[in-house]
Amino acid sequence: MAKVIIIGGGWAGCAAAITAIKNKAEVVLIEKTDMLLGCGLVGGIMRNNGRFTATEEAIIMGAGELFELADSLSRHKNIDFPGHSHASLYDVLKIEPTVRNLLVKKGVNILFETRAVDVEMDKNKITGILISDDRLIKGDVFIETTGSSGPMGNCLKYGNGCAMCIQRCPAYGPRVSISEKAGGKDVIGKRSSDSFGAMSGSCKLNKDSLGEEIRNKLNKEGVVIIPLDKKNINKQKLSMKVCQQYAINEYAENLILLDTGHAKLMTSYHSLAALRNIKGFENVRYEDPYAGSKGNSIRYMSMALRDNTMKVDGIPNLFCAGEKSGPFVGHTEAIVTGSLAGYNSIRYLYGEKTLELPRTTAIGDIIAYVNEQMRTDSGLCNRYTFAGALYFERMKKLNLYTTNLDVIKDRVYKEGLIDVFMC
Ligand SMILES: Cc1cc2nc3c(=O)[nH]c(=O)nc-3n(C[C@H](O)[C@H](O)[C@H](O)COP(=O)(O)OP(=O)(O)OC[C@H]3O[C@@H](n4cnc5c(N)ncnc54)[C@H](O)[C@@H]3O)c2cc1C
Repeated sequence: MAKVIIIGGGWAGCAAAITAIKNKAEVVLIEKTDMLLGCGLVGGIMRNNGRFTATEEAIIMGAGELFELADSLSRHKNIDFPGHSHASLYDVLKIEPTVRNLLVKKGVNILFETRAVDVEMDKNKITGILISDDRLIKGDVFIETTGSSGPMGNCLKYGNGCAMCIQRCPAYGPRVSISEKAGGKDVIGKRSSDSFGAMSGSCKLNKDSLGEEIRNKLNKEGVVIIPLDKKNINKQKLSMKVCQQYAINEYAENLILLDTGHAKLMTSYHSLAALRNIKGFENVRYEDPYAGSKGNSIRYMSMALRDNTMKVDGIPNLFCAGEKSGPFVGHTEAIVTGSLAGYNSIRYLYGEKTLELPRTTAIGDIIAYVNEQMRTDSGLCNRYTFAGALYFERMKKLNLYTTNLDVIKDRVYKEGLIDVFMC
């Protein structure tokens, strides 16, 4: 049986594994740590704003498994917070084992604690992935979903300090760029100042370290908003955020907490001392990153140029998805690009025409739009998500955003894409 090798077990890699295995291939998923989901272990927000539309499109196209699983583990559904409507928040403490069980049940061979470091090539095609312990894992087609953070030196190199603690580089080693090792050309996301990389917009507080009243409100309502004293308001923080959908005044003027199992603090870099002066925060501590008062993620350090079928430029048997495939922000964005990459890897294997999703769908449009943008200097300064900022505005302008399930179904039906990912 033809063999698909996926490198990186974040949301993008997991989604690629599911569409590939549904299409009758042997699928091996290589993950450097001992857990799946990468950044998905610290996120949790789904279905906010245009992500609702993209989620429903994916479900109707036959790639609904991971979305339905996240829905089933939601601590809160259909909640609103500043700038965001109808969000759900999955439980970050429960999601990983459930996704892992689903993949194993479907027959995906997951190799944990297996870090890809290089490629074996035959002319311009990859024939195998070299692992840090010198093993060679051979395959027919490859999908890179290693995300966009690391390597380790970034901790000191790019500003506030990379605290991508969830990726645990000191223990498991850094990410390498498989696409570059195979001869492809990667690009780096920029900040508006022209420096490289970008900071995440949120971090986690340990929920048990908060006062009882805040904890109870979080557990019950999912959202707690606490106005900040003038002296603690720093609007400059907004311009540092990767997640531009949360770069609005409310996120500087208030502490906005969301209940994802931890207390997700929607603006980073609050000094611990200042936080502990606030009622209910007297004993607070950061959960992830541990250095959340100072550091946060440095991401978008290597993105592969690719076409709209998710195939990497210049390497016939390498596909990519998630943050590796462009300045996308989000679990939803990782899942939809991963689903397409997994599906197309199989079409490539069997010599069939690979699928480009039409721009009449939100998923097809974001994939094509980001492809155009990441080839320009100005485009590399932005991040793209269905959930807000520039791309959500575009969705609204193009009438792609809707929560009407009949409209979404009709759109997918007209393009002949109902259940396209099923087989
Ligand atoms: C703090 C924070 C909060 C966030 N909150 C949200 C949120 O609430 N909602 C939302 O939608 N998005 C959120 N995001 C963004 C979202 O998590 C990411 O955009 C998305 O999950 C990226 O998925 P990915 O699969 O592309 O990459 P990643 O999640 O980075 O996964 C990459 C995987 O590849 C593995 N890997 C790397 N190198 C190798 C190698 N050499 N060999 C083998 N394996 C390797 C890694 O260990 C990891 O598991 C957040 C991001 C951060 C940092």
